[in-house]
Amino acid sequence: MTVVNGLLFILYPWQPQLMQTALMSGALPAKLAVFPEPYPGELLHSMMARYRFYTGQSHCTVSDELFGQSHRSNPVDLPFRLADLALRLPRRVGLDGDMLLDRHTLFPYYSAFLDAEYLSEARVAALGSSGLVGNRVGKGIKPIPPIKFLRFCRKCLQDAREKGRDPHWLRAHQLPIMTFCTIHDEPLRNSNCRVSTSMRLDVPSSRSCPADAPLVLPKHAAWDLLKRLSLDAVSLLEGTYPFDIGSDGHMGLRTAFAEKGLVRTGGDLDWPSIADSTADLIDGLAPAFPAIRALSRKEGGWLAYALNPKRRTSTDAVLLAGLLLEGICPRPVSVVVTTSTQGPWRCENPLAAHHGEAIVTEVVRTEKVYHRGKGEFRHLRCACGYEYSIVTREDGSSTKPFRLRFGPSLARFILETSLAGVPFWKAAKTAKSDPASLKRIIAEEGIPHHWDIA
Ligand SMILES: [Zn+2]
Ligand SMILES: [Zn+2]
Repeated sequence: MTVVNGLLFILYPWQPQLMQTALMSGALPAKLAVFPEPYPGELLHSMMARYRFYTGQSHCTVSDELFGQSHRSNPVDLPFRLADLALRLPRRVGLDGDMLLDRHTLFPYYSAFLDAEYLSEARVAALGSSGLVGNRVGKGIKPIPPIKFLRFCRKCLQDAREKGRDPHWLRAHQLPIMTFCTIHDEPLRNSNCRVSTSMRLDVPSSRSCPADAPLVLPKHAAWDLLKRLSLDAVSLLEGTYPFDIGSDGHMGLRTAFAEKGLVRTGGDLDWPSIADSTADLIDGLAPAFPAIRALSRKEGGWLAYALNPKRRTSTDAVLLAGLLLEGICPRPVSVVVTTSTQGPWRCENPLAAHHGEAIVTEVVRTEKVYHRGKGEFRHLRCACGYEYSIVTREDGSSTKPFRLRFGPSLARFILETSLAGVPFWKAAKTAKSDPASLKRIIAEEGIPHHWDIA
């Protein structure tokens, strides 16, 4: 703290130039006379764009007024010089640099799994003038590419209008992993405001955000998985860890994979098994994030990179790994083959008339496993040819059945529904499969059909 002209100011110690200027001239930067009222969840970039809209100035002048310096660029998602900006904001705005960073940028998301040392370094960079905040928080590590256009939800814009608010960009929607608005369960759309390296401050308008703007995700992606990722991402952005690994990104994940039995003696993760057991999920996500296929059987690809404790944890990768983990069929830890006399079990074939009836008696194999408690893994086959696995724990609870094979009922179903003109996605829903996995199975088994799904 320092006293200038009898007023008490808190100065940021990592801003020597700023402190010097203040002390030499005897004044801190002049406060702006006006600044738009920040909305909950609004991106800082959006507040600046509204400021420009109201003052009618050029992009460069605005930058000069807000930061005391013309920027060629200040990243939309992780801007810097926030302490400079906060000093200029009118007092009634009630935000300091840290609050700007935590409430109006994507910093809380990207820094969620950072070690304390990296975290404070990144925060200093965002408040101060050194920049490159993205690099410091490990943003941009594959497999999710950065956004190219600012994104919006039609219903959120409509909501703002109805509440008498200015149209504004929401920060959550600018996370590349977000493909859905989690408030409205509505797929996000690309505006035509390009996220560029030059300082451009545009507010959403009917011209930049038309109702028929393109969706950010392709139709063939597994929407349920992508919605799930969107929910996880929003929860992290708001400071809640979506699954029980807590803030301990690397180690928590390694432990979780190990608990599924996906670890070799010596502690290395078992990449071939991980690749095998996540193939369906990867298929579902790949249309939206193609680089996710680089989960290599040999060395683990992006996942190995993300789980490497020597690197900054990438939040995107942690969320993806969490999703893969949940979908993985539990693997045996100790292999003791026994025969079970229990049963019969339910047929889980969604395409069979006897679906849900307890008629399955054929046990292909059973193993003692550990999956959140001791349990018994069973690979079951119904007379209709459907095969699935399930783990029953000692306390009588069990995992969700995991489909291994549809059996012959699938080919019949595919031929009939495609001939009847049922849309492909609807058929996939009936088969309780995500469209991408079903497409793969159809291709692999060479099942004839009448859809255009090449
Ligand atoms: Zn919305
Ligand atoms: Zn059956």
